[in-house]
Amino acid sequence: MNNFQYVRAEGLDGAARFVAGHAGAKFIGGGTNLVDLMKYNVEKPSALVDLNRLSMHDVSELPDGGLRIGASVTNSDVAYHPTVSTHYPLLSRAILAGASAQLRNKATTGGNLLQRTRCVYFYDTATPCNKREPGTGCPAKEGINRTLAILGTSVSCIATHPSDMCVALAALGAVVQVTGPGGSRSIRFEEFHRLPGNHPEIDTTLAADEIITSVDLPKTGFAGHSAYIKVRDRQSYAFALVSVAAGLEVTDGVIAEAGVALGGVAHKPWRNSQLEQELLIGKPANRDTYHEFQRALLVGAQGYGENDFKLKLAPVTVVRALEQAAHEGEQA
Ligand SMILES: Cc1cc2nc3c(=O)[nH]c(=O)nc-3n(C[C@H](O)[C@H](O)[C@H](O)COP(=O)(O)OP(=O)(O)OC[C@H]3O[C@@H](n4cnc5c(N)ncnc54)[C@H](O)[C@@H]3O)c2cc1C
Ligand code: SF4
Repeated sequence: MNNFQYVRAEGLDGAARFVAGHAGAKFIGGGTNLVDLMKYNVEKPSALVDLNRLSMHDVSELPDGGLRIGASVTNSDVAYHPTVSTHYPLLSRAILAGASAQLRNKATTGGNLLQRTRCVYFYDTATPCNKREPGTGCPAKEGINRTLAILGTSVSCIATHPSDMCVALAALGAVVQVTGPGGSRSIRFEEFHRLPGNHPEIDTTLAADEIITSVDLPKTGFAGHSAYIKVRDRQSYAFALVSVAAGLEVTDGVIAEAGVALGGVAHKPWRNSQLEQELLIGKPANRDTYHEFQRALLVGAQGYGENDFKLKLAPVTVVRALEQAAHEGEQA
């Protein structure tokens, strides 16, 4: 691990300006991902700007009926917040399916969004990896890729985004609030993470000197009909091979609203709102509808050998999550 400066942020402006003015400086939330990466010499920040003393610890209701989750609220505090567990059970379930209680107590909302891939080559500095060192290659395509992507891949990278929480946030249609030296802006969740393309080293549309201040949830939380299914090697403390967050509003057996996102299959949570409009909304809430939707959602999926099983696992998980959501079931 390299030597680095530690700075406790006293204000948003000062923190953003410090990172803008110091090459290699990074923000730190709970440190559960960043410090691991520093120990592996994958991340070598020149300075860490600690955001934990800033006032981003609240969960508050928005005037339009939505909910604002401060960037420093821990994953546990989000999952067990009474408004979240009542009105956004999909989010609670997804968070509690991830990591361990100790990690969730420390990990923050902002940090969860920016956690990095779990591709083994990314962590192993003895191997090439385009995401870690652009231009060195991607050994995963013909190598160890059991956990990696089947959708939205590029010749440069087939990594997945590992978060559970982000899959639920994508299905819920969250909005990320950020601020930096250039001012504040809102980023729709679907536009926050990016596909690898020719620049797999860039995970998101956030600038290096921008701070996530909160994540806003819309009024609709699919409280009555939602499911999070996470298929993994162990029932706890394992990342998703495939996960699906599904939320539905069903009236008289017909789907009135829908939000469906997949984890473990792409460089970002995989959601297609247009297909939801065309193939779910206004259609009967039954298995035929779900099958037609999953076929369209997974068009173009491609395996790389070890991860070929996801081509069969993803469709059945989508259908099962939608059936479970329609029946208000818990994760099996
Ligand atoms: C053993 C293990 C198992 C795990 N299993 C799972 C799992 O099953 N599912 C799952 O979803 N996750 C899992 N995780 C990952 C865990 O959820 C993340 O490590 C955690 O959410 C990161 O949050 P953090 O606050 O600790 O981030 P940090 O490590 O502090 O930061 C991560 C990144 O975010 C940046 N950052 C942090 N806060 C902000 C902000 N407000 N604005 C801008 N940038 C910011 C940092 O600069 C850094 O780049 C696991 C982790 C471990 C170690
Ligand atoms: S899949 Fe991406 S993260 Fe993994 S080795 Fe290839 S470039 Fe690196």
